Amino acid sequence: MTGVLVRGGRIVDETGERAGDVRVRDGWVAEVGVALAADGERELDAGGCLVSPGLVDLHAHLREPGHEEAETIETASRAAALGGFTALVAMPNTEPPLDDAAVVRSVLDRGAQALCDVTVAGCLTKGRRGSELGPLGELHGLGVRIFTDDGACVGDGRVMRRALEYASALPGAVVAQHAEDPALAEGGHMHEGEWSSRLGIPGRPGEAESVIVARDLDLVRRTRTRYHVLHLSTAAAVDLVRRAKAEGLPVTAEATPHHFTLTDAECASFDPAFKVHPPLRSQSDVDSIAAGIADGTIDAIATDHAPHAPETKEQPFEDAPPGMLGLETAAAVAITSLVETQAATFEQVAGALSWRPAAIAGLSDHGGPIKAGRPANLCVIDPAAAWQVDIDRLASRSRNTPWLGRKLAGRVRHTIRRGEAVVVDAEAQR
Ligand SMILES: [Zn+2]
Repeated sequence: MTGVLVRGGRIVDETGERAGDVRVRDGWVAEVGVALAADGERELDAGGCLVSPGLVDLHAHLREPGHEEAETIETASRAAALGGFTALVAMPNTEPPLDDAAVVRSVLDRGAQALCDVTVAGCLTKGRRGSELGPLGELHGLGVRIFTDDGACVGDGRVMRRALEYASALPGAVVAQHAEDPALAEGGHMHEGEWSSRLGIPGRPGEAESVIVARDLDLVRRTRTRYHVLHLSTAAAVDLVRRAKAEGLPVTAEATPHHFTLTDAECASFDPAFKVHPPLRSQSDVDSIAAGIADGTIDAIATDHAPHAPETKEQPFEDAPPGMLGLETAAAVAITSLVETQAATFEQVAGALSWRPAAIAGLSDHGGPIKAGRPANLCVIDPAAAWQVDIDRLASRSRNTPWLGRKLAGRVRHTIRRGEAVVVDAEAQR
């Protein structure tokens, strides 16, 4: 493998920020220093750019197996690489679901050919039906660390308690919850509030999230199992997580770019691109999510990348499936919504997109400091570049992005995954 020399950027990692070039050889960072001389490597210009450890997405729906018309492991990994991600966690709501060692193994095998590292979250319960625990021990033996029924909430408190008890014996295991009380959210298509009344669309109340988070935290207080809240969306739940952390409970949380940027007012367009679970909330919720990222209550920014083929998604709002694309836009939306507005610093955003999710998922090859001897997983972001989503150039197989027509600041310029320049000047190399 030829080497790469990343030249002229500002390195940002968990140790701080500094100017420097990064020499990459045979998949590893070989040298970091100022004005390094090229020694036959391919030079990648990083002038005016920030050089971060590669981004890590805790929450992506790859749709393979079962819905390859919407996305495949390969196309999602290309979208991820273009978004600066060098690793992602594939959610288990595929068909068949990832509750079985053979299916998990086949996804991991296919992921080995992808443009970013692909790890998987395993189902918490069989078939994600919420009643009987999945084979957590067996999947843990394959390297699975995150267990969740994402897309569905584990609403049964007794099942959740048993899952937490069982997972507490598995080293590094994390129980992750899609926190929406099934009974409270049932039949709703958007956030329950002023806009849902005005539009006449049945709502999903914010309490659907906070009652589940509160219940789960009570159970975690007993089992002390690592617990992660997926796509946090309400001010009340941010508050619960903040207090649980202060108490010392082993809890982490993620939020999506759409939940700290867009409000339920978007649903007035009746555009199904804005339909998502949990739904887009009120402005005060959006502000609380941003504040939670800035003060560290929310550990990670995760995409909840959820591709749907046009014939499936382009339906009347109430009939369309929930979910939106996220991999190719997450870093830019975070920079636009949080850094440009001075709600957070770039270092905080990079931490939430890289080293903090890497630590949650136990991905030690990702997120760590950029120094000699580390695996070369890097992304180079031009924070000043302004751009707009070009629907015809998305690497994803699907088109359900809510960011059309929006001006974004911050563009991923290069992505290096295990020493391979998979994205150069915002173009995928394979
Ligand atoms: Zn979910």
